[in-house]
Amino acid sequence: MSQFGHRIIGDVQIAVIDRLGGTSAGAFESMNLAAYVGDDSGHVALNLGIAASYVNATAVAVMNASHSNVVHVVSDGSACEPGDGLVTTQSGLGLLALSADCLTAALVDSDSGVIAVMHAGWKGVHDNVARATVETMVKLGAQFANIKAVVGPSICPKCYQVPIERVEMFIETCPEAIYDERHLDLQAGVWAQFDELSISAEVIDSCTFEDDRFFSYRRANGQPTGRGGLIVAKAGA
Ligand SMILES: [Zn+2]
Repeated sequence: MSQFGHRIIGDVQIAVIDRLGGTSAGAFESMNLAAYVGDDSGHVALNLGIAASYVNATAVAVMNASHSNVVHVVSDGSACEPGDGLVTTQSGLGLLALSADCLTAALVDSDSGVIAVMHAGWKGVHDNVARATVETMVKLGAQFANIKAVVGPSICPKCYQVPIERVEMFIETCPEAIYDERHLDLQAGVWAQFDELSISAEVIDSCTFEDDRFFSYRRANGQPTGRGGLIVAKAGA
């Protein structure tokens, strides 16, 4: 297995997917999971199958991220509507969030069998997609006290320079995400949002900009690049 990190919580498996071990070539070498970046669709399909195998999923729901706090409940591998949280109770269904610098996280209540994945750049942190995802899990029977989060690699605050006005947007909404007047800390922001809900989180840490085992939108600097991600699935019946 070539992915960067793998965790097991009850009968749920979570895998961070890095660039290694896939079939794509060139800028997408080799484990690009996104069909919309210009990669060969056959390679992407093969890579999605490899990603599914990391968590023993028989189908995969691929997030159609839109930098929002919209969350969808899904039950099969058909195309997802735009949104940044996916929740399911379906065994064997992999939930996949794609990313190249943005934060991804898996959320698991293994007692109730409700799992989720989420994606957050600065807008998702600002709009608290973390809370929206957790609240959707609770509607499906999850208990706050039982939910565990696993946070995947993202761009680190030192590498994530943004306009001053964008940092100022966080003074009211999520001050924990402010690293300094020109840098945002996605991980600290989402950590605080989980903590506010008394959800414990483990971080599988690396900076996607500095660590070339990961695709990085900012490192690509306008050139094509792929998307890695985070996948979660609970064991099939
Ligand atoms: Zn960095």
